[in-house]
Amino acid sequence: MSGCGSGCDDGSGGPMSTGKELVMFVMQAHGGGVAGTDIPNGPLDTKCQGCGEEFQMKTFVDKCPKCGGIHAISPPQAHDSANIQFAGEDFKG
Ligand SMILES: [Zn+2]
Repeated sequence: MSGCGSGCDDGSGGPMSTGKELVMFVMQAHGGGVAGTDIPNGPLDTKCQGCGEEFQMKTFVDKCPKCGGIHAISPPQAHDSANIQFAGEDFKG
């Protein structure tokens, strides 16, 4: 159940993926239009999964202000910061 209509199911991850796969999915969703969209219910407080810095996710793809680690959350799961996925320390957006 992607709920995205066409274009979301291209076989390279989906909204229920984890880690880097989810980050890649959100970055590419709708031609990149989702990544910079504000999270509708407001910024999510989280902690960087790379360096431990506390920061706020303001958009569906955001990065740690300290180490630059890329984090993403899929829109259907954006109500809960526990669903934030980290791309990994070797991933450069
Ligand atoms: Zn960090």
